[in-house]
Amino acid sequence: MIDHSAVNILVLDDEPFMLKVIAHILGRLGFSQVATASDGQRALDLLGSATPPGLILCDLNMPEMDGIEFIRKLVEQGYHGGLILVSGEDARLLQTTAKLARAHRIDLLGQLHKPFSPGQLAELISGWHPCEAATPAAAATAPGAGELRRAIADGELELHYQPKVALASGRVTGVEALVRWQHPHLGLLMPDRFIGMAEEHGVIDALTRWVFDAALAQARRWADDGLDLRIAVNVSMANLHCIGFLDFMTDAAAKHGIAPHKIILEVTESRLMQDVRAPLEILGRLRLRRFRLSIDDFGTGHSSFAQLRDIPFDELKIERGFVRGAAGNPTLRAIYEASLGLARQLGLEVVAEGIEDQQDWDFVRDSGCDLAQGYFIAWPMPAAAFAGWVVDWDARAERRQ
Ligand code: C2E
Ligand code: MG
Ligand code: MG
Repeated sequence: MIDHSAVNILVLDDEPFMLKVIAHILGRLGFSQVATASDGQRALDLLGSATPPGLILCDLNMPEMDGIEFIRKLVEQGYHGGLILVSGEDARLLQTTAKLARAHRIDLLGQLHKPFSPGQLAELISGWHPCEAATPAAAATAPGAGELRRAIADGELELHYQPKVALASGRVTGVEALVRWQHPHLGLLMPDRFIGMAEEHGVIDALTRWVFDAALAQARRWADDGLDLRIAVNVSMANLHCIGFLDFMTDAAAKHGIAPHKIILEVTESRLMQDVRAPLEILGRLRLRRFRLSIDDFGTGHSSFAQLRDIPFDELKIERGFVRGAAGNPTLRAIYEASLGLARQLGLEVVAEGIEDQQDWDFVRDSGCDLAQGYFIAWPMPAAAFAGWVVDWDARAERRQ
């Protein structure tokens, strides 16, 4: 919880009545330091004042400087506080603006559609922790390629595993291996902090080879303990430029005694890929050797129709941005259902990513999707926690029957 009297809040809206209403609600929620501004310029002036805002509630539709322009100016001024978007505009425009704010690394608490209740505002603020790491300072400490090579050699990488579950039966069918870097000074680093860098600097091969070997060794241990799982590993298109990779995969599967049809390669496109000949050959031949190919994050960036046309996938993973909350959002729902229908027509198994609550689960199960993955089922966990989790999960599934 935050100390209400310690946060300076600024409300920006061109309608004086709205300013009064919102300030009143904030007062009732216990916030005593509330300033208001009826246009963007005045709000920006307050950023330089003795008591700059730590949280801004911002309207979108304003006559002189609109909310979107205001956000850009906030970023230019180095604003590090929180932001809530408040608007009567349609939900898609609010969502576009929210996306833009996040892309600028603004600490966006969420969006409120006018008219909103005091409870909705209280809920957004109650989950907020001011000064979270979404500031540029966190990005400034990005580790380099040499350091990553050393880390692989020194055993600083580790894998966490997230289950994939069959929606119809609730049964655990497999796990996805997700890499983390236990950095000696920066703590546990998530892949978004180093995969792009590894691709750009030619370290992705060494990284993927380490991941593949470690994941298959773990799959072997689980199989020996009687856990029959498919193991999924993420493979960047940047891995597929050299034919040697094909033999590496095949040899590793043989070494650990894991049949290729138990191994899923989740393919994501690299920004750097130019020549598609080697990737097409490698993926085609991996499929001939019965490895399962999955198109990851379907619907984003390059993970799209052209890949579906060119590569013989077995599985399609619908990107979590089209799944999470789709039950209550007509736009997401349309994209989700189109992706599912497309996968069905192509005969692919479908995984819905990003199942975060019961509503997401019910929605994807009722849609006829095959598999689900997400925090509602389980967060990615160390291998040691997995067997215990399966026992708990199966017990919960039995109670649900
Ligand atoms: P991905 O393959 O799409 O993996 C799923 C990501 O979504 C994981 O993030 C996972 O922790 C997160 N996630 C799972 N369930 C939920 C949920 O319900 N809600 C939300 N908001 N997120 C959820 P993580 O581990 O940070 O990995 C991010 C990406 O990094 C992965 O996306 C994958 O593209 C890449 N990556 C991870 N490990 C490797 C690897 O070994 N090699 C390569 N090349 N890429 C990897
Ligand atoms: Mg994946
Ligand atoms: Mg994904």
